[in-house]
Amino acid sequence: MNAIYARVSTLEQVEGYSLTDQLSSCRNRLLEMNVTNIEEYIDDGYSGEFLERPGLDRLRNDIRNKLVEHIVIYDPDRLSRNLTNQLLLADEMEKTNTKLIFITHDYDASPEGRLFFSIRGAISAFEKAKIRERTMRGKRTKALSGKLVFNDKAFGYDYDEVNSMYMINETEANIIRLMYSLCADKHYSLRDIMLELRSMGIMNRKGKPFVLSNIHRILINEMYAGTKWSFKYYGKKTSQYKTKVITRPQEEWIPIQVPAIVTKELWSTAQQVLGKNKFLAERNTKRNYLLRSIIKCECCNRYMTGVCRVQKGVEYKYYVCNRNMENWYLKTGKCTTRNIPSSLIEESIWNTLCSLIKKDQDLSIYMPNSNAQDNITEQLERLTTYHEKLQKKRSDIMSWFRDNVIDSTTAKKELQDIKKEIAAAATTLATIKDKKERGMIKSFNITAEEILAATTFQTKRDILLKLGYTIYITKNSHHIDWYLSN
Ligand SMILES: [Zn+2]
Repeated sequence: MNAIYARVSTLEQVEGYSLTDQLSSCRNRLLEMNVTNIEEYIDDGYSGEFLERPGLDRLRNDIRNKLVEHIVIYDPDRLSRNLTNQLLLADEMEKTNTKLIFITHDYDASPEGRLFFSIRGAISAFEKAKIRERTMRGKRTKALSGKLVFNDKAFGYDYDEVNSMYMINETEANIIRLMYSLCADKHYSLRDIMLELRSMGIMNRKGKPFVLSNIHRILINEMYAGTKWSFKYYGKKTSQYKTKVITRPQEEWIPIQVPAIVTKELWSTAQQVLGKNKFLAERNTKRNYLLRSIIKCECCNRYMTGVCRVQKGVEYKYYVCNRNMENWYLKTGKCTTRNIPSSLIEESIWNTLCSLIKKDQDLSIYMPNSNAQDNITEQLERLTTYHEKLQKKRSDIMSWFRDNVIDSTTAKKELQDIKKEIAAAATTLATIKDKKERGMIKSFNITAEEILAATTFQTKRDILLKLGYTIYITKNSHHIDWYLSN
């Protein structure tokens, strides 16, 4: 049997390369050779960069089974765009004595023939790289001159071909302004914005309702405030069917000024609200985080917040550095302290505390400076600030509830928890004040027995609050490192 192999890529299809031309030249060549019994192997719309192609797979299989006598191909690039793969395929054919014929090249399997074949392949690869580099440089120059590189059909804009720039599409821009206003001014959650748009009958370009991810993408896109980041991503083809999107390092991004649909201030407010909403959404309603307001990230000197994520029905609780809680939408510039699984750190700290006490029944030495009067003052200050913070939080929650940022169940739960915290803080505050007044600053009235006997969340929590330690988490990618400080 004799074979013809033909291929065009999707791009070549667009550019008008045709399979018909390849096939007819190949057929003519076989007819000239007086050869009949022709089988055609065709890959229509496949890149030559990868070997996985249905037509080629079938051809290689038939070659392996020694069914093919001659194989005619228009040019080596049809076989593969990659020199190594070209040689690999040529090798496979030689092994089974299949004679390889190119229409545009004389190819013979002699050492000279193969050398020529290799050089040709290397030159074509070099030219391809050169063209790619030239196009890339052209695009970069265009972006640096403040022009858009291509029309990405962004929602909210029309495209001015002559100036390579967006023009605001007022109808779409009004939808975008509405989304920003609902988010930044009214503190709506993404879901509520989606429902509001639906109730108003507002649709996207395809005439379908906006979904959460559409809205989110619009609300975080700085382009709408006038700065579009170009050269932020590139696509890398990893196989015949897959392209991976890779983010470039930030210093390679090129900002392009485009007509703004919302103000910079509105955009920034929206980012803050999105951060706060995400923060609220992620909080576990049970929220029994033992180390709340006790655990800090050392590198940022910020508290770490207890966060619960549910994956496939399983709850995973972490402490997350507050810098990341607020800046979750940033791609870079985040704190690199890892999220700490709550059970791990809680157990580790409690066990350490217990073993310290068991070894030496005198707890006071683990409360550095507990005899010093200024330490008490400091503690008082700290507790007072904490107490004030809680009260501020309480009024925040009530205003969030009023503004529909959270529902009544969440609000109630949050308020209950805060009430407990406030009560605990107030009690401790009163105790310390009392002791300060009576000059009893020597101990906090916590005995080793009490600590060892503490098993419930609340008893442990009370002890930790009374001890007044701060736990610092240090940056470490392999294991959890921490130290106590007062
Ligand atoms: Zn941090």
